Amino acid sequence: MAGEKLSPEKLRFFEDLIRKELQESMLYIENINREQSVGSRESSGDLSSYAYHQADQGSDTNYMEHTVMMMESEREKIRLLNDAMRRIQDGNFGICEMCGELIPDARLQIIPYATLCIDCKEKMETKKRKQRR
Ligand SMILES: [Zn+2]
Repeated sequence: MAGEKLSPEKLRFFEDLIRKELQESMLYIENINREQSVGSRESSGDLSSYAYHQADQGSDTNYMEHTVMMMESEREKIRLLNDAMRRIQDGNFGICEMCGELIPDARLQIIPYATLCIDCKEKMETKKRKQRR
């Protein structure tokens, strides 16, 4: 049914969920930042570790690339979570942006920042696939 909204209890539940996920993502980024600053301090100055670092450079680069990718997806997640938080405040959280139907709870519990119901998400993805060709 279009025009429906989530009950205040559910909104509160998802607000908590989003807040928790936000904290986790921010902690994750913080940890990586800390690790990286420790790493750069270690490699500067200490010459004895230089040979080791050079031999290991290949995997180091992969690790760095992987970390950067993880950081980016985590930042994107934070952005989406903040958007979801705004929608909770605006009172239109959990409503599909395309058809206006309620997004099922089960979906929101896995992806609290989902803005589309499964049907519309699938339609959107088919459309995207077609555009790419
Ligand atoms: Zn929809």
